[in-house]
Amino acid sequence: MSLTAPNPLADLGIKATVHLNPGVDELYAHATRLNEGVQAATGPLTVRTNKTGRSPKDRFIVEDEQTKNSVWWGGFNTPVSPEVFDRLLDKMTRYAQGRELFVQQVYAGTDPRYRIGARMVTEMAYHSLFIRNMFVRPTADELAAFQEDWTVLNIPSFKADPETDGVRSDTFILVNFTKKMILVGGTQYAGENKKGIFGVLNFLLPAQGVMPMHCSANVGEDGDVALFFGLSGTGKTTLSADPSRKLIGDDEHGWTDTGVFNFEGGCYAKVINLNPEAEPAIYQTTRTYGTVLENVVLDSQGIPDLDDGSLTENTRSAYPIDQIANIQPGSLAGHPRNIVFLTADAYGVLPPISRLSREQTMYQFISGFTAKIPGTEDGVTEPSPTFSTCFGAPFMPRHPGEYARLLAQKVQESGARVWLVNTGWSGGQYGTGKRMSIAHTRAMINAALSGALDDVNFEQEPFFNLEIPTEVPGVPAQVLNPRDAWADPAAYDEAARKLARMFRENFKRFEEGVDPAVTASMPNHDQN
Ligand code: ATP
Ligand code: MN
Repeated sequence: MSLTAPNPLADLGIKATVHLNPGVDELYAHATRLNEGVQAATGPLTVRTNKTGRSPKDRFIVEDEQTKNSVWWGGFNTPVSPEVFDRLLDKMTRYAQGRELFVQQVYAGTDPRYRIGARMVTEMAYHSLFIRNMFVRPTADELAAFQEDWTVLNIPSFKADPETDGVRSDTFILVNFTKKMILVGGTQYAGENKKGIFGVLNFLLPAQGVMPMHCSANVGEDGDVALFFGLSGTGKTTLSADPSRKLIGDDEHGWTDTGVFNFEGGCYAKVINLNPEAEPAIYQTTRTYGTVLENVVLDSQGIPDLDDGSLTENTRSAYPIDQIANIQPGSLAGHPRNIVFLTADAYGVLPPISRLSREQTMYQFISGFTAKIPGTEDGVTEPSPTFSTCFGAPFMPRHPGEYARLLAQKVQESGARVWLVNTGWSGGQYGTGKRMSIAHTRAMINAALSGALDDVNFEQEPFFNLEIPTEVPGVPAQVLNPRDAWADPAAYDEAARKLARMFRENFKRFEEGVDPAVTASMPNHDQN
């Protein structure tokens, strides 16, 4: 669209060459013309980015009347003054004059009662395609009456000056709830677009009694809904794409008085070392026109080499949800019958599946544990623990207790069963043990969802008081109890004691705000 048409950025005072709601073909053409990427021989638009992951330390929330007492400051929620925001907005606006910009008008949220209209203004054509794939695309009628609630202005080539702009580096993500705007500069990582708006919904929805969640969701033949919470890399996307169940969404959902709705209209899957047999549906998206492939290396034939992690291990495929064959129409469903907390425990300690009591549910939700495998630095062989409250601390502006109370209430009302599933290591920690096979994890989850575990015996392990089923159809019994899976049970006990101590240490900062029964659900008899 040229300047002869009404300027869609007039309210911002930006005069630019604006492409309004461009489609897929157009965006491929722009992205290749602007040298942002190339089309892979298999179809996807393939791009490289300066940052290959999010920049959580460069995210700031404007502290003002609206947020002062409702945002939980500290941790990932860093305050900036309205002046800092206004100055950067002014600088960005001036920088944007006369440039070429892409605008997508999209929704966040599939439930019309709670969705917000987002005007996503981007410098990069590939971001515009990413946004088109990942957000909820309005129908023609909806577009004609589109209401823009929030604006995201994302200009990666605009870099802040940390000396004078009041931010930490040249990269910044500034969220302003009063102006309903997000400013992004310095980073080309497209995930900031989606996680920025996620943070907005996570702030707004609890005030309306809706629980916002960092989880995937799917629904079975008979309408039984399952949620899968977990930090990055624990399997939300992988395990929700189960051909026998309809996918609702792979990352961000809300739980209302009627059930679950997706915030998004697409998925964002990790594709490093993707195995076509274990994950056929996601593999197919790397072979489809319209997909965005981020930091995936193409071979000399232009074919994606999914085993090549030379740019990053965080290679990604972003695709509209309808690229997956079995999806829930409208991405809306009823109340969950089962909730799964996923953790990828690189210590090999937590059982591959266990059943949680109400108190343990709160304890695990507030803890938000996973353990990463050692990085590439020389000499580092130990996994490192991550405790990220609500399984998504960087995206949660409010106090964890608010989200925990909402979840407790919804679990209580719905009677949903809650499971803890370790998709990480078994038989020893990283280096000694092996990662749980996707087939076994799927078999365990399917057994839980189908009700097959309602009739089996459970045993209780002593370190976390977790209830472990003694049999699961299709899974060898010796992997069910992690202690049995280790060659040396004494070494297991030592590792389990160590991990239990890390849990208790981390939980201290929450004890004051929770019911004592929640803290007590984690035993401490092995304190010494
Ligand atoms: P993010 O929040 O970053 O999107 P995610 O929770 O969606 O993360 P996935 O993208 O599903 O995580 O990543 C899980 C990764 O672990 C995939 O690469 C998958 O192939 C691998 N994996 C290996 N074993 C398992 C298992 N038993 N269960 C689930 N995933 C497994
Ligand atoms: Mn995911």
